[in-house]
Amino acid sequence: MEKVVIIGTGPAGLTAALYSARASLSPLVIEGMQPGGQLITTSDIENFPGFPSAVTGPELMDKMREQAARFGARYVADEVVSVDFTGKPHKITLSDGRIIEALTVIIATGASARYLGLESEKKLMGRGVSACATCDGSFYRNVPVAVVGGGDTAMEEAMYLSRLASRVTLIHRRQGFRASKIMAERVRTNSKIELILDTVIEEILDVSKNEVTGLRLKNVKTGVVSELNVTGVFMAIGHQPNTGPFKGQIEMDENGYIIAGNTRTNVTGVFAAGDCQDHIYRQAVTAAGTGCMAAIEATRYLESMGQ
Ligand code: NDP
Repeated sequence: MEKVVIIGTGPAGLTAALYSARASLSPLVIEGMQPGGQLITTSDIENFPGFPSAVTGPELMDKMREQAARFGARYVADEVVSVDFTGKPHKITLSDGRIIEALTVIIATGASARYLGLESEKKLMGRGVSACATCDGSFYRNVPVAVVGGGDTAMEEAMYLSRLASRVTLIHRRQGFRASKIMAERVRTNSKIELILDTVIEEILDVSKNEVTGLRLKNVKTGVVSELNVTGVFMAIGHQPNTGPFKGQIEMDENGYIIAGNTRTNVTGVFAAGDCQDHIYRQAVTAAGTGCMAAIEATRYLESMGQ
C-alpha cells in the first residue's frame, strides 16, 4: 500500500513529490506520457524565480526530478489508464495492467494547449509558433505578431504582447468574441492591436527560413485569401485538461478541469494541483505552488488518519 501516489511530473507533480518525500512519505510518482509536462517543449524559461539567466524547460524539470529523488521519491515510467476512487484505498490502474493502491493521490496531470492542426504549425513549433505569451512573448520585442482566438485567453495574450511587439493582429474565426466584455473592450481600444475577424489561418509561412515569416489567411465569409507578415503566432484557442482517466470519479467543471478548493477535491484523500485544476494562471511557478499545497494537505490528511 502506497501512502502517496502522485500522477504527473510537471512542476506541480514534482513539487508535490519533493514536499511529500521530505515529509518521509516516500511518494510513488507516475511519470505519464510526457515526463516533465508542458515545460519539456519550452526553450528558455525566464520567469521561474531563481534563474537570472534563464533555464531551459528540460533542465528545470531534470533538476526538480533529481531534487525530489534525493529525498526518496520513486518514479514509475508508465501512465494511468483509469482510477477507482469509490472506496478506500484508492486504486490506480496503469497501462501495463498493474493496479496500485494508495491512501492518498495527488493528481497533477496538467493540460495541453489546443492547436489548429496544421502541418506547418507542427513544423514551426518553438520557431515562431507558441501557445503561451507569458512564456515566449519577450522573444518578440519590436516585431509583428498574431494571436488566434476570441476567448479571454486570446484577449489576455494580445494585451500582454501589445506591450512588447511592434504590432499585434488578433485573428478570430467569427465576428463575436467569447471573451468577457471588459477584456474584449480593452483589446478593441488598444491602438497597437488590429482585429481581423471572420478569418482563419490556412497556412503558417516560413519562406524556407524554418522560422515563421507570415500567415496565409482566408476570410470565411468572402473566401478572400490574403497574407500577413508576422514573426510569431500565438495560438489561444483553449486548453484541454488531461483529466480523461478521472472522469466520473471526481468532480470536474464542464470543461473537464478538476474542481479543487485549496487542492482538496470532493473525494477525501484525493488532491489536485497544477493546470489540471487551474485554467486561469497556468504558470510553472503557480503549478509548483499548488503542488506544494497538495503535498501539505496530503501529509495533514495522513496524520489525521494516524499514518
Ligand atoms: P475559450 O474556449 O473560452 O475560447 C477559445 C477561443 O478559440 C474561442 O473564441 C474559439 O472560437 C476559438 N477557437 C477554438 N477552436 C478554434 C479553431 N480550431 N480555430 C480557430 N479558433 C478556434 O478558451 P480560453 O482559453 O480563452 O478560456 C478558457 C476559460 O478560461 C474561459 O472560461 C475563460 O473565461 C477563462 N479565462 C479567464 C481569464 C481571466 O479571467 N483572466 C483569462 C483566461 C482564460 P469560437 O468563439 O468561435 O468558438
